Amino acid sequence: MIGAVDIGGTKIAVGMVDDNGRVLSKTESPTQGERGYSEGLARITNMLRETARTAGGELRGIGIGSTGWVFPFTGEFGDVDFLPTWKGCNPVQDLSRTFCVRAALENDGDAAALGEAAWGAACGKGRLIYVTVGTGIGGGIVLDGQLYRGVDRSHPEVGHHVIDASGPPCTCGFRGCWEALATGPAMAAWYKSKAGPPADANSLGAKEIFERAREGEALAREAVERETYYLALGLANLIGLFVPEVIVLGGGVMKSVRLEDLRKVIAQGCRFVPWEKTELALASLGEDANLIGAARVWHARFASEASGAAGNQ
Ligand SMILES: [Zn+2]
Repeated sequence: MIGAVDIGGTKIAVGMVDDNGRVLSKTESPTQGERGYSEGLARITNMLRETARTAGGELRGIGIGSTGWVFPFTGEFGDVDFLPTWKGCNPVQDLSRTFCVRAALENDGDAAALGEAAWGAACGKGRLIYVTVGTGIGGGIVLDGQLYRGVDRSHPEVGHHVIDASGPPCTCGFRGCWEALATGPAMAAWYKSKAGPPADANSLGAKEIFERAREGEALAREAVERETYYLALGLANLIGLFVPEVIVLGGGVMKSVRLEDLRKVIAQGCRFVPWEKTELALASLGEDANLIGAARVWHARFASEASGAAGNQ
């Protein structure tokens, strides 16, 4: 079994995952990045020990997926805004020394893409894009069975292509990125701006707006239509650029969006590529997708090394 560590903005999940992608045991803890790297590392170490004991198997390796800017091949953390004291720290080296096993690190979007490619909705497909839509938009690209990396093996950010240059400002510096328009919070912000007072709208999230739309509320329906349109435009861009076999869709917002509505928008354009051959599939690894993906990071890294393709994965 592989020890999996999924580091996100709100929580750190740790678990044991078997060679078929099944979670044998898991636990989680609030991220609490302000408490510093040493404390975080000690907590992860304890959670790995505890879940390994519960699962009862032999720990063969450790896979880590983390939000933000990380360096997969050195194991170092870069600038992750919720983990300011982790910059330059190296949990890959530290954990592999403690547990005497090999460890590997990836961005969590890449980790989830690898998990879905091996054990989930994209199983058997060589060209896929994983997209998760929640409070942000992230993802990973797998081409010909290999994780796609950019210059210096960097992680491409699918959430930051511009959909509407006059749209709301984005954290990356541009305006109107996919992430600035089509996340749950972006949808809620638009709804609130149109709803005006009374301000019961202030506590509404995307999920409640989808519910109101199903109940027939006109403004909520408009918000859902807008959300669907922007989501589909981003997907159409990915299809135009990559024409993947499948786009796997995960994250909270995707639980409410209808895939056939996305396809209707995609069908309005994309006429120079065989867009209808790109399948849209919901992520199938469920709420543990990131944890399972983190375990798959280990397999992807060291299995390819064994077959002589070291370095790319
Ligand atoms: Zn952006």
